[in-house]
Amino acid sequence: MNKIEHIGIAVSSIESSGNIYQKLLNTEVYKIEEVASEGVKTAFLQSGPNIIELLEATNPDSPIAKFIAKRGEGIHHIAFDVTDIRVEMERLKAEGFILLNDEPKRGADNKLVCFVHPKSTNGVLVELCQSV
Ligand code: ZN
Repeated sequence: MNKIEHIGIAVSSIESSGNIYQKLLNTEVYKIEEVASEGVKTAFLQSGPNIIELLEATNPDSPIAKFIAKRGEGIHHIAFDVTDIRVEMERLKAEGFILLNDEPKRGADNKLVCFVHPKSTNGVLVELCQSV
């Protein structure tokens, strides 16, 4: 795995949280994108080399809606940049990690993504993402 690509934060409203994070990081949201297949709307901010992804549910069945109902707003996942997502998925499977999807999915920001179940990572949802 390469560097941390971004940190995902579950929010109830991208509009209000976007404002808070713009003030916090002293920068602008540079992109808002909906990933319909995941039931999320995402907003991206950059602070130095680091990217923050805000995630808002677009329907009540969205994983983000369920996360917020259970745990409230807050850090949702850590995403690592990988060079070849399929190789990395095979490696993690062989190591006994539980992957949430068998095939890479199309995520926000034009990336291929795969999630690792928090049960197998001490409570942290991990995202692998490969730029395409
Ligand atoms: Zn993410």
